[in-house]
Amino acid sequence: STVHSATPAEARVDLSAIRDNVRLLAERTSGADLMAVVKADAYGHGALPVAKACLEAGATRLGTAFVREALALREAGITAPILSWLITPGEPLDAALLADVELSAGATWVVDEIAAAAGRTGRTARVHLKADTGNSRGGATVADWPSLVEHALAARATGAIEIAGLWSHFACADIPGHPSIARQLATFDEAVAVAGKAGVPGDVTRHIANSAATLTLPQARYDMVRPGIAVYGLSPVPELGDFGLRPAMTLSARLAHVKRVPPGSGVSYGHLYVTERETTLGLVPLGYADGIARNATNQAEVLAAGSRRRIAGRVCMDQFVIDLGDDPAESGDEVILFGPGDHGEPTCQDWADSLGTINYEIVTRIGSRVPRVHL
Ligand code: PLP
Repeated sequence: STVHSATPAEARVDLSAIRDNVRLLAERTSGADLMAVVKADAYGHGALPVAKACLEAGATRLGTAFVREALALREAGITAPILSWLITPGEPLDAALLADVELSAGATWVVDEIAAAAGRTGRTARVHLKADTGNSRGGATVADWPSLVEHALAARATGAIEIAGLWSHFACADIPGHPSIARQLATFDEAVAVAGKAGVPGDVTRHIANSAATLTLPQARYDMVRPGIAVYGLSPVPELGDFGLRPAMTLSARLAHVKRVPPGSGVSYGHLYVTERETTLGLVPLGYADGIARNATNQAEVLAAGSRRRIAGRVCMDQFVIDLGDDPAESGDEVILFGPGDHGEPTCQDWADSLGTINYEIVTRIGSRVPRVHL
């Protein structure tokens, strides 16, 4: 195996895969705008290089959960439109307005706080009104929607805000045929109609589609789609396959210690793995502080010395052990935890399956000690 660098562990991110995925998504959007969702450090892939790659490949907008994520992109020189949607009371919004970050409002108090920031900064805020169409997270319920719209129109009349978008978010777009999908679309259409009748201009950007909806529900694309996970090449609906996406991340480490041990050697905390015969153990310098779930103990597999090896014993804070049998290996050899799967390594989806979670959680939890290397 090839040693790519001298770091103990690294997450290599293939930006050509990111660009290919954005192009594939853009082909599926029937002319809708493409907002690449780059929250949580681009799902662990490194927000700035990923944002640039997405914009090069045809994304026209970026989305983040938090304002501070958007501001970090602005400070790094990103000028494309950015929308941030998770605002809590008392958050300083002046910086968002001064940096031209678009904001979501799903309640009247958010409109008030945005309007106050607009008054202080002299800016007109671009606001996307969020309808709760059946996810019961953020956004105005059907009952609260008319008053949110009225409130926003009043703030618009003072010049404090511009209504830039009407939007919502699916609960079950990743469950093909789930009855809530059609209900959410109908509720969204109704919310758009109510806003229109109240005087919201017809040219606002309507958007509801995450990756699963972008790829499987053409009727959900409206004026803009907001894919996240698919940008990274991971399937939003694994049971429907990979949609031709290319996983961008390869998580690797180099063995920190390789040694022969006798039969009956208890491995790592709690001796949850005991060697059956004389064997070679390899020490992998990644642990739960780096996002390798402690539940991966005796579960997940890695590629080492040409074959798959299960993690042997407890995953510790900084390290775990693999049993290499009698295969030749030496310290410094590369181990691949997951990657695109082209060379026999497990995929991120394999890790998610073996841990009973989703691919999103595997990549976003990779810790800040692991350098992201962009290729
Ligand atoms: N839009 C919003 C509001 C989100 O919170 C997210 C992420 O959860 C996305 C879009 C992207 O979703 P996905 O990664 O499933 O494409």
